[in-house]
Amino acid sequence: MKSKPIKLDRRLKPRTGAVDRRARPPVDPSLHSVETLLHELQTHQIELEMQNDELQRARLALEASHNRYLDLYEFAPVGYITLTPEGKIIEANLTAATLLGVERNNLINQHFAGLVAPKDSDRCYFLLKNTLTHGKEQKIVELMMKRGDSYFHARLDCLPVLRNAEISMLRITLADITESKHTEEELRIAAVAFEAQEGIMITNADNQILRVNRAFTEITGYSAEELIGHTPRMFHSGCHDTAFYAEMWECIHRTGSWQGEIWDQRKNGEIYPKWLTITAVKDNAGNVTHYVGSHTDISARKASEDEIKQLAYYDPLTALPNRRLLLDRLQQALATSTRSKKYGALLFIDLDNFKSLNDLLGHDMGDILLQQVARRLIDCVREGDTVSRQGGDEFVIMLEELSGNIEEAAVKAKTTGEKIISSLNQAYQLATHEYRNTPSIGITLFINHQHEISTLLKRADIAMYGAKSAGRNTLRFFDRDMQETVTARAALEADLRFALMRNQFKLFFQRQARYDGKTVGAEALLRWDHSERGLVQPHEFIPLAEEIGLIIPLGQWVLEATCAQLKQWENQAQTRDLQLAVNVSARQFHQPDFIEQVCATLNKFAIKANQLKLEFTESLVLDDIDDTIAKMQRLKEVGLSFSIDNFGTGYSSLACLAQLPFDQLKIDKSFVRNIEVKPTDTVIVQTIIGMAHNLGMDIIAEGVETEQQRAFLESHGCQVYQGNLIGKAMPLEEFEHSLGI
Ligand code: C2E
Ligand code: MG
Repeated sequence: MKSKPIKLDRRLKPRTGAVDRRARPPVDPSLHSVETLLHELQTHQIELEMQNDELQRARLALEASHNRYLDLYEFAPVGYITLTPEGKIIEANLTAATLLGVERNNLINQHFAGLVAPKDSDRCYFLLKNTLTHGKEQKIVELMMKRGDSYFHARLDCLPVLRNAEISMLRITLADITESKHTEEELRIAAVAFEAQEGIMITNADNQILRVNRAFTEITGYSAEELIGHTPRMFHSGCHDTAFYAEMWECIHRTGSWQGEIWDQRKNGEIYPKWLTITAVKDNAGNVTHYVGSHTDISARKASEDEIKQLAYYDPLTALPNRRLLLDRLQQALATSTRSKKYGALLFIDLDNFKSLNDLLGHDMGDILLQQVARRLIDCVREGDTVSRQGGDEFVIMLEELSGNIEEAAVKAKTTGEKIISSLNQAYQLATHEYRNTPSIGITLFINHQHEISTLLKRADIAMYGAKSAGRNTLRFFDRDMQETVTARAALEADLRFALMRNQFKLFFQRQARYDGKTVGAEALLRWDHSERGLVQPHEFIPLAEEIGLIIPLGQWVLEATCAQLKQWENQAQTRDLQLAVNVSARQFHQPDFIEQVCATLNKFAIKANQLKLEFTESLVLDDIDDTIAKMQRLKEVGLSFSIDNFGTGYSSLACLAQLPFDQLKIDKSFVRNIEVKPTDTVIVQTIIGMAHNLGMDIIAEGVETEQQRAFLESHGCQVYQGNLIGKAMPLEEFEHSLGI
């Protein structure tokens, strides 16, 4: 390149202060000395040198700027290529050579179209041709350029260069757009993925909904507008507690994601299950910027799972659990009974003469009967019990948690069995036919893993055959002793129902005395004078009387007998001031007319109310505390007093007991028995006495059998005693005799 003549700028001109001949005053040559001339010459030389330096600097600056422009051109972010009008490369910058992966020298004279991927070479020819034809800039994108054996996406701008109104050259700008193509592609894929089958919801770090896809709006029933800006709390169904959500967020914060089944609510209120995956999106600094939730509605899948379960575990005809499910539940019941130590029972039920119904009226009628039997069986048991159909006309019922006492469990199982017999004895309406049928039931009890499941079922089955051979329409226990116990109890129940009418009850009296031996009263205790069995103790018949409701007339009888006795004693000095304590059962107390009955009895015998004391157990008073307080208050107003019986054996809260207007607290005999034997019980006795004093209650200890126990009680502040040491529970005559009558 030819260097142009350099123009001096102002900086290169002589400066003020430097020697300037034009500015100098004219000097008389005669005055010039050689020295002066020499001096001038030197000054001039210095000026010239200075001008040379500046010129040198200007040249270097020019060179530097030329190089900079050259660098800018060579290393530009895009490639520059110049072509002949025929498309041959004349010149290219380094970027172009690098992009194309070809040495710059080797590019010269190559046809540009030869560098284009074969599939796009036609488009390249068009680009060049169009530029030549139209004489103006042409652009083309997504042209594939070849680099050795690979390709890249490029954007080409083709510009014609005119000389004398003719196109002399074509200039091509070549930009690598591979990266932006990829980004574009990824965005396109992401957009397609976002509109996938799964519901997708994106929230910001504050959990505000920013975007949802169409599937999400379809699943939830909300439009995008209704969702954006809100938080996902609007989907909460109430099925999960706060601990569930706290755990979920703890997992997201710790691991960056969470997935699991969750029950949400749709806009229409429907609650449905879904599989949810939440992923936290973080920036480069590790801060959460967004949360992406992907939601799959699994209600349909669940429904089909339920259907499969229904087919696998339930009998299609009656919808009752089938044998397989029964075995499963029996396995669990055995484990539960091991923990609870309560007996359960298996009842094997077979319909009598079912085959003849099928033969007579056809299988359709047989099916209808089985369905009706199933419904009746369900009505005979509690919710937690299992009624299953084994096949044909055989049903098995599993009763759980009957009782810790084997006899009581047997009685309960028998009661249910009898209920079933009575229900299945009712007439069935089979289409137009009225039909009667009876069952035979075999029962066996279970607890722990005492016996194999198959053994238990076999036992119930054997017992059922026992019922068949006993004449059908009845029940039998597998265990002969059990059968006898249950039969005896049935007889006892029948006897008990008539005992009142037969006047078989009587009262025993047990003295209650002070520390100085003075008798203050007695507890009236019930006895059953059975014609064959002799004297039956209360523990043998009171629970049964409670169960069958007989305790109510029985309790009334005790009340009347006690009042009658008090009336009789009014005339004698030894008995006039005695107070009698009567035990009141929970069922009796909770009768709506209990107060009226008590008042009517007091009136009937015209006795002073303060001569009567009612003994309640802790469990009785805590059943309905407000009602109890109200009832007790009313009876107190009449003049009655109250004692808490068996104190210490219940689990009642002292705060509750303190609210009740008790006059006396009776320490249970189980603690008294262990005084100075078992340290904990000894401490309990001391504590109870202290507590009664603090609450302002009288205290009495029952079951006092030794002088040692009595002395201990007295030394700790308990001054009234009941027990064999003072006197056993005894019939009236004996009791009066002990008082010196
Ligand atoms: P309870 O109210 O705790 O009565 C005290 C029981 O302890 C009585 O037994 C009594 O005989 C016994 N006992 C008293 N002192 C001693 C002793 O020193 N040693 C021993 N070993 N036992 C002693 P009983 O008469 O068999 O009464 C048992 C339970 O039957 C009573 O317990 C009470 O809950 C209930 N009961 C008795 N009569 C009636 C009644 O008329 N109505 C109601 N509802 N229940 C009654
Ligand atoms: Mg008592």
